[in-house]
Amino acid sequence: MIKEFISQRAKEKYFRSLNEEQKKNALNNIFDECSHIVFLGGAGVSTESGIPDFRSKNGLYRKRDKKFARYRPEYLLSSDCLYQNPKVFFDYFRSNLDCRNVQPNAAHKKLAEMEQKGKLDGIITQNIDGLHQKAGSRNVQEIHGSALRSHCVICRKEYGPDFIFESRDPVPVCPECGKMVRPEVTLYGEILPDEAYGNAIHLIQDADCLIIGGTSLEVGTAAGLAHQFHGKYLVIINKGKTKMEGKADLVFHESISKVLCEIE
Ligand code: NAD
Repeated sequence: MIKEFISQRAKEKYFRSLNEEQKKNALNNIFDECSHIVFLGGAGVSTESGIPDFRSKNGLYRKRDKKFARYRPEYLLSSDCLYQNPKVFFDYFRSNLDCRNVQPNAAHKKLAEMEQKGKLDGIITQNIDGLHQKAGSRNVQEIHGSALRSHCVICRKEYGPDFIFESRDPVPVCPECGKMVRPEVTLYGEILPDEAYGNAIHLIQDADCLIIGGTSLEVGTAAGLAHQFHGKYLVIINKGKTKMEGKADLVFHESISKVLCEIE
């Protein structure tokens, strides 16, 4: 048990008084105490695997690629771009989001280990790289879909991870019906996949501890999900600042893998 608090104010005061070492002990105590821990993460979880995030100094949004310089990054990953300018969309997608040969890092592996030990109920990820599953996690809710799956926009035939990346056509074409095959990712301007989003809400609502990590929470749906948490402890592990920090019990501005691996 971390401590009994007589009020929310006393709890806030206690957590704010901790130094870095004490915060790590407190995180370990939270893990001992809680039995329904959920992780909500984003692109920062995969930067140590070599996939750039969007908004950091080395993120995709700051990449200067002459070919795409005239477009806003949000446009390049939008349904408008996919349907109105598909050659540009697939060129950008293939150049920047091919994560087929990327390997999970220590953070992915630690989260998988926590689930296997029965400590973690599940992962809600905005990532589309499939690295949590590659690390062995089972309950992974991909609220923005996956770059490793694709389907025909007309006949809905499904294709595997290589189809879009190996296709020689500038816009990949369905061999069954001749129409476009698109990645199963949620683009700007699209709604989230019902099932994953519904499962994510249930996970968060049943959690006694929510860890948010490697996400700026700039994407509204992730922030909206985080606001559904009413459990005991909110922990944020993110190199940069996020909007939810005022609500969190513990905040670490450090590498996600470093902090997670300090949990015993
Ligand atoms: P974001 O770029 O807005 O924020 C990433 C955050 O992670 C930043 O605040 C940064 O400080 C932090 N960060 C980076 N490396 C970290 C590390 N090693 N340890 C701790 N923190 C670290 O990304 P987002 O919030 O996930 O939202 C943007 C969208 O990015 C999502 O919709 C997601 O689909 C998409 N995206 C996914 C991938 C992927 O699948 N790997 C990659 C790029 C973007």
